[in-house]
Amino acid sequence: TRQTIENAKKNDEDINAFVVFDEENAIKQAQEIDKAGIDPDNVLSGIPVAMKDNMLTKGVLTSAGSKMLSNFKPIIDGTAVAKMKEAGTINIGKTNMDEFAMGGSTETSFHGKTKNPWNLDKVPGGSSGGAAAAVAAGDVLVSLGSDTGGSIRQPASFNGIVGMKPTYGRVSRWGLIAFASSLDQIGPLTRTVKDNAVVLNAIAGKDEHDMTSSNKEVPDFTANIDKGVKGMKIALPKEYLGEGVDKDVQDAILAAADKYRELGATVEEVSLPNSKYGVAAYYIIAPSEASSNLQRFDGIRYGYRAQDAKNLEELYVKSRSQGFGDEVKRRIMVGTYSLSAGFFDAYFKKAAEVRTLIIDDFKKVFQDYDVILTPTAPTPAYSLKDEKDPITMYMNDILTIPVNMAGLPGMSVPAGFSDGLPIGMQLIGKPFDESTLYQAAYAFE
Ligand code: GLN
Repeated sequence: TRQTIENAKKNDEDINAFVVFDEENAIKQAQEIDKAGIDPDNVLSGIPVAMKDNMLTKGVLTSAGSKMLSNFKPIIDGTAVAKMKEAGTINIGKTNMDEFAMGGSTETSFHGKTKNPWNLDKVPGGSSGGAAAAVAAGDVLVSLGSDTGGSIRQPASFNGIVGMKPTYGRVSRWGLIAFASSLDQIGPLTRTVKDNAVVLNAIAGKDEHDMTSSNKEVPDFTANIDKGVKGMKIALPKEYLGEGVDKDVQDAILAAADKYRELGATVEEVSLPNSKYGVAAYYIIAPSEASSNLQRFDGIRYGYRAQDAKNLEELYVKSRSQGFGDEVKRRIMVGTYSLSAGFFDAYFKKAAEVRTLIIDDFKKVFQDYDVILTPTAPTPAYSLKDEKDPITMYMNDILTIPVNMAGLPGMSVPAGFSDGLPIGMQLIGKPFDESTLYQAAYAFE
């Protein structure tokens, strides 16, 4: 554990994957495991891991990448964090992220930008950019991230690692700082498919603290992992390989499709016609939910408080004005607007209807297919220096957002390179069928 932390700290001089290291607790926990002896039946026992900075860790800074929470130390562990601890893993620290998970490049963090370990001039993706970079740099074998519109899968893709966004409800969101509650889900980022399955087993399951967590049985995700893809039916949606997707990315996905055919699967083109409206609907739904969730940061109960306020109203306004960054403010404004009385039908209700259309498209395809194969992101990691306007950034999630809208499991698996930068492919599954995704990913790996 000491060596792991030392190595991670050294790597972090270039990469800045971590917001904070928790050396003290990590060493203490390691010593306890040393004393008790490693459990030979538990492969996770004594394994160092890292947690995204929006997951509550008892007594350890949990800032969600924001000035607003830059002094916040929770009094509890979130459920996923607690379960990882129970499983014997050792959390060495908190990983960097876009502020409140709003972004796709980890550039909006209060703690500075994270760099992509494959190329320090490139972004690591986001919002779980620190989580992905920490795994790719070899700091840890496992990190937990959160995914609202792609924040596990896209950074996994940009960093050449495996990232799983489980089915909505598979993992408890208790102790995850809420962004958009109907879309958020916690999941593992790992180097290998099998590691990923093992970790999902450790964190999945019903939790009485989260009423949206599912009591569906949690199977052993490794049980069928090596069964291959013979006879598996894989769908290739044509809309996900169209305009805006880099040629190298398209080629990598078509090559993956060929490999699956060689391995005995059937791969056929299908259509998901409403996915193209996903980004537009998401940028109504997610900000709406966020504007509500972020009301609690009022300068009173948590985190940052402006010092120069003359009355309560001013305290709220100044604390929020000073504590939130530009992107968070933009989302709060869009969300508040689309929820307001006169505009609710035109925006939020319409977006909810579009969401239903997207869900129905997936349902139709899954009547005939086991898995859907797409690119994870339209491009490999882009430059840290590029000028970025919000709309271009939002469009980068066009391939991952529909999966959150439909609550489906989706994972990103390394599928090639473009100019030395990793390309990820996305596998999308039926609700609660993460097992088949792991099986397909393992066969490919
Ligand atoms: N990039 C998307 C956004 O900015 C998704 C973020 C996420 O999944 N947390 O909202």
